[in-house]
Amino acid sequence: MIIAIDGPAASGKGTLGKRLAHHYGFRHLDTGVIYRAVAQALLESGAALTDEAAAVTAAMELDPEKFGNPVLGTQTVGDAASVVSAIPKVREVLLNFQRQFAAGPPGAVLDGRDIGTVICPDADVKIFVVADPKVRAHRRTLEARGRGEAADEALVLADILKRDERDKNRATAPLKCAPDAHVLDNSNLDIEGGVRAAIAIIEKVRTAR
Ligand code: C5P
Repeated sequence: MIIAIDGPAASGKGTLGKRLAHHYGFRHLDTGVIYRAVAQALLESGAALTDEAAAVTAAMELDPEKFGNPVLGTQTVGDAASVVSAIPKVREVLLNFQRQFAAGPPGAVLDGRDIGTVICPDADVKIFVVADPKVRAHRRTLEARGRGEAADEALVLADILKRDERDKNRATAPLKCAPDAHVLDNSNLDIEGGVRAAIAIIEKVRTAR
């Protein structure tokens, strides 16, 4: 079984996906991390984020062992990832990596922006997670402060809105809700509530089969 978690509020370090994977005994991939890892490789090498050749090379040399690097969680790397992820050839290189991950037994949960639309259009369950941008800005600010970063909530909100716009309007694999996805608004839910709501959706889909 493949569970696709997409949407502007799906990220949050892949927490929802991780929790669902744990619940069902499936493997989990937070696909944002792979775009962040490519972006970080470019930042480290000093190449421009729009340098297609350098970005494609970084995507081909992706090293999952580096996915745990805490720098990948920062706002700077997230912004850079949003730029790099708009390069079609980068997405093409990363597509197989994600599909192979999804296909392995016993099942997988993938978090991202285009899992239900492009990577796994035949996913068994698709959940599109949304939340009020102000609530997301508040959460991200608390997360950043928790990591010891200085964060101004108004700037975080502006950044979220800018990144959503870029993700929704890019030509390749834009952020959009698949027609067969179930929308989950977690504005008024904490993590536990979000996990419970997602499990309820998954169980409903499973019993309806
Ligand atoms: O989810 P996260 O904040 O880690 O993602 C960082 C950026 O990577 C997103 O803003 C988006 O531009 C890009 N991304 C993507 N497709 C995915 C996951 C992330 O384009 N499947």
